[in-house]
Amino acid sequence: MHIRCDTDGYTHAITEDEFATGRHEGRFRAVCGHVVLAAPMIEEPGRFDPVCREVLRGDAAEPSVPRQERRRSRWRSRR
Ligand SMILES: [Zn+2]
Repeated sequence: MHIRCDTDGYTHAITEDEFATGRHEGRFRAVCGHVVLAAPMIEEPGRFDPVCREVLRGDAAEPSVPRQERRRSRWRSRR
């Protein structure tokens, strides 16, 4: 699913898992590693984040990398 981030104005891609996890706090970790603060739904959609687009493409191209591993390494490199 796609959620517009309030801090950078981009629309980021977020997995349904992350959406379910983050919706209590109103923040979601996008597939690019960016933490999205959900913008009000009434705002017009922003540009789609190019990093998210790359990640989505990469995911399709690398089915051999376990999803859990990728999530963990991103989590660690996050500031
Ligand atoms: Zn993104």
